[in-house]
Amino acid sequence: MIQAPKGTYDVLPQEVERRRVLTGHAERILGAAGYQRIETPAFEATELFARGVGEATDIVQKEMYSFDDGGGRSLTLRPEGTAPVCRAYIEHGMHKLPQPVKLWYLSSFFRAENPQRGRYRQFWQVGAEVIGCATPETDAELIVLLAELLEAMGVRGTRLRLASLGQPETRGAYRDELVAYLRAHESELSDEVRGRIELNPMRAFDSSDPGTRAVMAGAPKLLDRLSPDDAEHFAHVRSLLDATGVVYELDPTLVRGLDYYTRTLFEFSSDALGAQSGVGGGGRYDRLIEQLGGQPTPGIGWAAGLERILLAAPEPPTAPDAVDLLVTVADRESREAHLAAFVIAREARRAGLAAQLELTGRSLKSALKHADRIQARYVAIVNDRDQATLKDMTSGEQKELGAAAVIPEVLRGDRL
Ligand code: AMP
Repeated sequence: MIQAPKGTYDVLPQEVERRRVLTGHAERILGAAGYQRIETPAFEATELFARGVGEATDIVQKEMYSFDDGGGRSLTLRPEGTAPVCRAYIEHGMHKLPQPVKLWYLSSFFRAENPQRGRYRQFWQVGAEVIGCATPETDAELIVLLAELLEAMGVRGTRLRLASLGQPETRGAYRDELVAYLRAHESELSDEVRGRIELNPMRAFDSSDPGTRAVMAGAPKLLDRLSPDDAEHFAHVRSLLDATGVVYELDPTLVRGLDYYTRTLFEFSSDALGAQSGVGGGGRYDRLIEQLGGQPTPGIGWAAGLERILLAAPEPPTAPDAVDLLVTVADRESREAHLAAFVIAREARRAGLAAQLELTGRSLKSALKHADRIQARYVAIVNDRDQATLKDMTSGEQKELGAAAVIPEVLRGDRL
């Protein structure tokens, strides 16, 4: 048997409805705030992610699905949405539009990760980006919108962690300080952290190794090293969040797996999830557009995992799709009746009814059983070209009528 590849899954019809609910909330909440939907291609030039996400990140180092396009050019299935949206902003000259440009997306992404509950190789993210605006209000608005979306979905046990990374220069000086500190404590660190001191020292804060954690508890914190400008920006973001009542914790050790962040950084997690507790997060990326070849343009965005939102939200009761009418024939041999049934089903749908044709050619008895199973309200049993019996499946009543009268009769019943 051929199975779906490891780390991927099928979205079965019964799960589609919950996704539709999420799409609806995203459209409503982000649409009302002036965000417009964008869809970029599933694959991009590999260079976009190498430059945009950062060479030193796990994503670029080991999680990308890259392939040769046959012409010697390396392409990559998108592992995240921000770099592609920024590429599109530059490519379509969106800097000429009224700024800021506010965009959102709901797309699938691909990362070669170790699959587990809440972590897949193909997954979906809903994301939002604001490009062309550096004010603290932008940061706070985006955070509030994600909080609203998670609330609308009923995501349980959410926690918001907040930090600021400052500017790359501050980060550079801080990085040197942190590397020196890690070097001074090298023997107490895990092998993995020790091996990555130069490559990505911030990730040491992420380690679950007890020795490393003890060292990191005394490590210098970037939040204490912010420039006055960055500190003020961050204080302003916090006061805006305070004013809206969005609860957050300051987390000076917050790191995210992408290199392009500057200033505000945030992450929502949920207690309702297991090890993979991150629901969504993001941050400011004021240098990214420039790094990708555009004019210096500030930006900020977030992405939230659709699967994790659904895992952390309660299952709503599932109601079967309504079926107004099932059209079948009395005599399986009657060509005339089949033709008339076909036309009635089609006309009924054009009249706005959820109408299905009995397609299998099963006997009348089993067609009625099938109607019960799919909870059809009415069954039209077509006798010949212009004669039918309409059965009300709720009351059990039957009525003989002309074929042309079936649809008006069902519509009338629908309105009762
Ligand atoms: P990131 O782009 O890594 O900041 O991830 C943002 C959000 O996307 C996370 O909080 C998760 O909810 C979700 N996410 C990231 N990677 C995966 C994955 N492999 N499988 C499922 N969801 C993911």
